[in-house]
Amino acid sequence: MTTGNPTPTKAITGGEFLIRDVSADEIFTPEEWTEEHRMMLQTGLDFVAQRIIPNLERIEALEEGLNPKLLEEVGELGLLGSSVPEDLGGLGLDFKSTMLITESMGGGHSFAVSFSAHTGIGTLPILYYGNDAQKQKYIPGLATGQLKGCYCLTEPGSGSDANSGKTSAKLNEAGTHYVLNGQKMWITNGGFADVLIVFAKIDDDENLSAFILEKGYEGITMNPEEKKMGIKGSSTRQIFFNDVQVPVENLLYERGKGFKIAVNILNIGRIKLGGVVIGSCKDAINESVKYANTREQFGRPISKYGAIRHKLGEMAIQTYALETAVYRATQNIDDAIADLAAGGMDKGEATLKGIAAFAPECAMMKILGSEVTDYVVDEAVQVHGGMGYSAETRAEHAYRDARINRIFEGTNEINRMLTVDMILKKAMKGELDLMTPAMAVANELTGIP
Ligand SMILES: Cc1cc2nc3c(=O)[nH]c(=O)nc-3n(C[C@H](O)[C@H](O)[C@H](O)COP(=O)(O)OP(=O)(O)OC[C@H]3O[C@@H](n4cnc5c(N)ncnc54)[C@H](O)[C@@H]3O)c2cc1C
Repeated sequence: MTTGNPTPTKAITGGEFLIRDVSADEIFTPEEWTEEHRMMLQTGLDFVAQRIIPNLERIEALEEGLNPKLLEEVGELGLLGSSVPEDLGGLGLDFKSTMLITESMGGGHSFAVSFSAHTGIGTLPILYYGNDAQKQKYIPGLATGQLKGCYCLTEPGSGSDANSGKTSAKLNEAGTHYVLNGQKMWITNGGFADVLIVFAKIDDDENLSAFILEKGYEGITMNPEEKKMGIKGSSTRQIFFNDVQVPVENLLYERGKGFKIAVNILNIGRIKLGGVVIGSCKDAINESVKYANTREQFGRPISKYGAIRHKLGEMAIQTYALETAVYRATQNIDDAIADLAAGGMDKGEATLKGIAAFAPECAMMKILGSEVTDYVVDEAVQVHGGMGYSAETRAEHAYRDARINRIFEGTNEINRMLTVDMILKKAMKGELDLMTPAMAVANELTGIP
């Protein structure tokens, strides 16, 4: 957006795109990916093509042990640990590279969800909020896939209003353990996770705290797999906690700071959802182009018809716009992280702060990504005609799988409200000068004779 405001020297901050002119060379475009980046992307795409797509029906049937095995395989390629520092067993890559790896999984249907939940909400709470002992104990296993993670925030009575959860934690008399009671629902990877991040309220606290639980702790039980519209190959469980004894050293970060953890980890999840669906859209376009070139009607491939070309063109245009927006915001985040780290901040804290500064963009990319995907997969079904309605085609899978993206990581309604709310809060805190350009526009308008 151009406003006539000259480019200041300071790096751009979240929400500032509204009021600041940015020169073209400040904006990252996918043409700038290095050879190394392209190789990482290709590694992920090859894994999906060779290990996920041929096994899609087995994955969709939730074949016992298959999903965790595939996570271990992708872990052997290093792709689970891209955001984990090297001294904790990861690759220690920047945020942009992590986003690109996430994109590479986007054509993997349900597996993309298992992957994203494990590498994001299942791993990052410990990576960014754990103390040294907690990180040493869990992160190397999570980075390689030897351990699988899940994130237990939602409850039957507490979804969008996540801080209203009823799961309770009470310190035992000896002061050695918190005793957890309650239930969580819709937990991705719940069926096989070894490490569970569980949010609960200690005593009568107003705010949640977060705990690290291990699947072997006594008192953890779960319902059978949820029967879902799509992402059927992703494990989704309701989990119960009955007098589960959690060692005090497994309190994550500080008492009453669980909601802060939840919110900051969700910021990352939101922009990463924007990244993973770029892969889903490109995959749906590729499938549609292949079909349109081979399916003949009226003596010609249907790709010769303007109506089909228009669809393929629109699918590509919207995906291009999504990709451009997501990686532009991603580079802004990397720049903010680099600035904070250069100022002496610990890399983990700099990452959290850098991403939090762009929380409005994270919410926007989640909304844009999920809605563009719904458009693209819907048109993919249409290009396939009757075959798009058949479970034999990936277009049908993609259509059903896409729908969840508007619901989890905060519904799109909640993210829309948050976007405005967060930008206004930044303005009120003096982080974003909305008033000067707003007054300039007002003066211009009132100056019209
Ligand atoms: C397949 C799947 C996997 C999931 N994985 C996980 C997971 O791993 N871990 C986890 O903790 N959770 C997970 N979730 C839960 C998910 O994050 C929630 O479903 C989501 O946050 C919405 O909560 P809800 O379902 O209770 O809907 P509700 O909060 O009841 O919302 C219902 C409707 O009301 C709207 N609404 C609610 N409040 C407002 C408001 N203030 N203003 C306007 N509209 C409003 C919503 O946008 C929505 O349209 C998963 C869910 C699914 C379906």
